[in-house]
Amino acid sequence: MLSGDLKYLVVGAGLWGGVLAERIASVLERPVLVIEKRAHTGGNCHSALEPDTGIECHAYGTHVFHTSIPRVWEYVNRFTQFTSYRHKVLTEHRGRVYPMPIGLAAVNMFHGLNLRPREMAGFLRREAAAHAPGTDGGEPANLEEKAVSLIGRPLYEAFIKGYTQKQWGKDPKELPADIITRLPVRSDYNTDYFNDPWQGMPLRGYAAMFDELFRHPLIETRTGLAWADIAGSVPPSCAVLYSGPLDELFGYALGALEWRGLRFERDILPWPDAQGTAVLNQADVEIPWTRSHEFKHLHPERGRQGDKTVVAREYPRACQRGDEPYYPVNTTPNQALQGEYQARLAAEMPNVTAGGRLGGYRYLDMDKTIDDALAVFEKLRARENRGRAA
Ligand code: UDP
Repeated sequence: MLSGDLKYLVVGAGLWGGVLAERIASVLERPVLVIEKRAHTGGNCHSALEPDTGIECHAYGTHVFHTSIPRVWEYVNRFTQFTSYRHKVLTEHRGRVYPMPIGLAAVNMFHGLNLRPREMAGFLRREAAAHAPGTDGGEPANLEEKAVSLIGRPLYEAFIKGYTQKQWGKDPKELPADIITRLPVRSDYNTDYFNDPWQGMPLRGYAAMFDELFRHPLIETRTGLAWADIAGSVPPSCAVLYSGPLDELFGYALGALEWRGLRFERDILPWPDAQGTAVLNQADVEIPWTRSHEFKHLHPERGRQGDKTVVAREYPRACQRGDEPYYPVNTTPNQALQGEYQARLAAEMPNVTAGGRLGGYRYLDMDKTIDDALAVFEKLRARENRGRAA
């Protein structure tokens, strides 16, 4: 099935695999085969025009490109132009809509205050001390303690607790503290969701961006083909860049890694604007979805985009074997299991490098995934150069 002199095989045509394939073809000038079990490239960033409305929809939830890493921004701009879209998120709590993340606007609205920027830090400190006595000075041990230490209990209970329970299917006390540090806490009226200087949407969508990434003539991309279909015919000298989950690679021999999955319910609605913004979170635990995505707002430069709109509600769910994994559940036992699989990989499959959100079992954003792939490529290049010199 595979050519006996295949030197580079990439498993998974998402960002991590795509960047590695592109670098191997463009820089090493080596042929590379990319296999992808889905029918499309682009991994979970994939977007396509919804046929009835012509609205660009993200199949796996809103993906906004944002980065602070100069080399990543320079790199992605080779494959697409970006719009000047800057992501804003609103959240609904008890029938009222607030800006997210927590900043002056959300705090003043929620507490009925008119705090000034210079008063915010002191206010939040007093809130934290009032509602988490005794944790002062000690490191927060979990997501709940961390969030309360940052914003106090009332804001935590309104905007974080219910959302987090729905998102992860766990009590926030069982979750690692660092998940919540993804969200900034600000003392001004800036309501951007991300702090990164570079943000935007690919002008012609993610599918066009990935077509460019995979365009090099030395890259052959085969969709609808899984690792299991070809694993037996990979030549031993072939370097494999694997971006699937490691438990699957080893047939779950050491047990299954825990993932959180998502399900989307998509509706075409007969009015031009349904929610007035791209992403509307639902903070309350009684509402079973975490957020709804109205995709046309991701591309304001495309104008009104017709009389209809597309909205997808996002429902987190437990991820069974065979479901699409989205988020690694980074608890200590899961991290330990990933470590055991990594040790087996190094010992038993030295020609395989695993990475990306799935292969690395890491909660990586798109830019960090690209940065990691560029770093992995540097190691490959060094190895290739040593091989050429020998
Ligand atoms: N989060 C929350 N309320 C919100 C938004 C986020 O409690 O309105 C918490 C939740 O625990 C979530 C984490 O912050 O898992 C990170 O949110 P982010 O929006 O970065 O998640 P992603 O877009 O990667 O799903």
